Amino acid sequence: MTQHFIVIGNPIAHSKSPEIHEQFAVQAGIDISYQRQYCPDDTASFIAVVEAFFNGGGVGANVTVPFKQVAYDCCAARGGLSAHAKTAGAVNTLSINQAMLQQGASITEALYGDNTDGQGLINHINSLGWPLTGARVALIGAGGAARGVILPLIESGIGTLTIANRTVSKASNLVDELSTASETIGKHSIKTCATSELTGQFDIIINATSIGLSGDTLPLSEMLNCHYAYDMMYGRPLPFLQHFAARDAQTSEGYGMLIGQAALSFERWTGYQIDVATATETLRQNK
Ligand code: NDP
Repeated sequence: MTQHFIVIGNPIAHSKSPEIHEQFAVQAGIDISYQRQYCPDDTASFIAVVEAFFNGGGVGANVTVPFKQVAYDCCAARGGLSAHAKTAGAVNTLSINQAMLQQGASITEALYGDNTDGQGLINHINSLGWPLTGARVALIGAGGAARGVILPLIESGIGTLTIANRTVSKASNLVDELSTASETIGKHSIKTCATSELTGQFDIIINATSIGLSGDTLPLSEMLNCHYAYDMMYGRPLPFLQHFAARDAQTSEGYGMLIGQAALSFERWTGYQIDVATATETLRQNK
């Protein structure tokens, strides 16, 4: 029997999720339909799309820009949330608690929101063989993507964490908020600073800013060095990675994170464990 999935966004035509999940389904040997679902940019439309999809027997929905926060609010108000979605303050994976539905709950009451973005990054870094245990990590950026990786990074056993951002107050507010919301984050001492003032030797530096979209470059200090540099952006030459490659660091763009977060969604919905390296290689060849 065909299992139905969607990705909800606006715009949505560019989304690579259908190809990725169809590749996973081939690997798992199951029959799926995975569609892009455009939605007008308002909460009522989003809820209507979600209700229609799950009422029609849909198994799982991914959520992308600009609805991750709206999906979080829906799940927080009536449904349920994973710990990662709670700390990220955003949901990228929706499913239905079938037991609740059978007991008479409505779709919105049985809605369960998860966030796989952060763990997708950790899984990709592990697959690259970059050591996380005890690592000195610098995270540049304090937006949605940065927020979603802080708990998974700490859970992975890193040593120190420094968060740098163009607007320092956003970084310190984020740390204050997450330290109160999560005991695991609260126990970890996290430093914050302006991006231009980030200096010293780190093991891993992660760019979680959207600067790559604008073509601008980050104001990186000459006194900043690392063994490994990761940019969450992908699919174009990235000055951040070029900067550290010229300083002999190993580098990676974020395509593997994209596949990694999708694999975790697929696994949550279907129970099939995906061989991410094989899927990534096949998808790269088919690009
Ligand atoms: P947000 O809009 O929430 O945050 C943007 C961040 O970038 C802020 O920290 C902002 O700083 C900083 N920034 C933006 N422009 C500049 C600039 N010109 N100079 C310095 N800093 C700047 O975006 P997201 O957190 O949602 O996304 C960030 C990036 O991560 C995007 O490129 C996105 O594509 C990528 N991403 C990749 C994923 C993957 O699977 N590979 C998954 C999720 C995201 P300030 O606070 O000062 O404004």
